[in-house]
Amino acid sequence: MDLIERIQYLSELVFDFDFQNYLSINNKSLLIFKIETKKKRYALLYGNDNKNLLEKANKHYVEAKAKYQYDVSTIFADTDSKDDLFLLSDVVLFSNPTDIDTIIIHELLHFYINSNQKVRLLEHISESAKKIGHDVFEKRDKSIHSLLFIQRLTEACIMYNSNTKNFGSSLDAINSALRFDN
Ligand SMILES: [Zn+2]
Repeated sequence: MDLIERIQYLSELVFDFDFQNYLSINNKSLLIFKIETKKKRYALLYGNDNKNLLEKANKHYVEAKAKYQYDVSTIFADTDSKDDLFLLSDVVLFSNPTDIDTIIIHELLHFYINSNQKVRLLEHISESAKKIGHDVFEKRDKSIHSLLFIQRLTEACIMYNSNTKNFGSSLDAINSALRFDN
């Protein structure tokens, strides 16, 4: 499964959100850039870069582990492209596949919230996700993510792990999803 298929799969599995449909009804494409941390530049991993966004992005290189940028015209003043951009660092891409999954889930959650997508999981959080999320939140740097974000991410990780059993526990999945936060 390549990265775009992985994003589609996780969006559907965890959030019940049809990512391809979102792109097509909004007349958008997705570009995926790799963040090459040693070379301090981005490289095109997926998508048709017909607006030369890679070159524009490289003029404003920012080191990160992962980021979902909704509507690139909001970050690059010199483009009218409304396409979305998913940035994943080589550090993430060198991880094992389940640890890549949790980072994709984490970034997808930011994206749904930032762009006000209708996602069932954003409307209801289970009592167990609230409790586990609260405990996770208490042990972390509270300035990075809100309690509500962590609780939503916990719900997502419980959903992911109950479907895949890729982690020994949901808590392991949540810790994986937050492993670059400290
Ligand atoms: Zn985050």
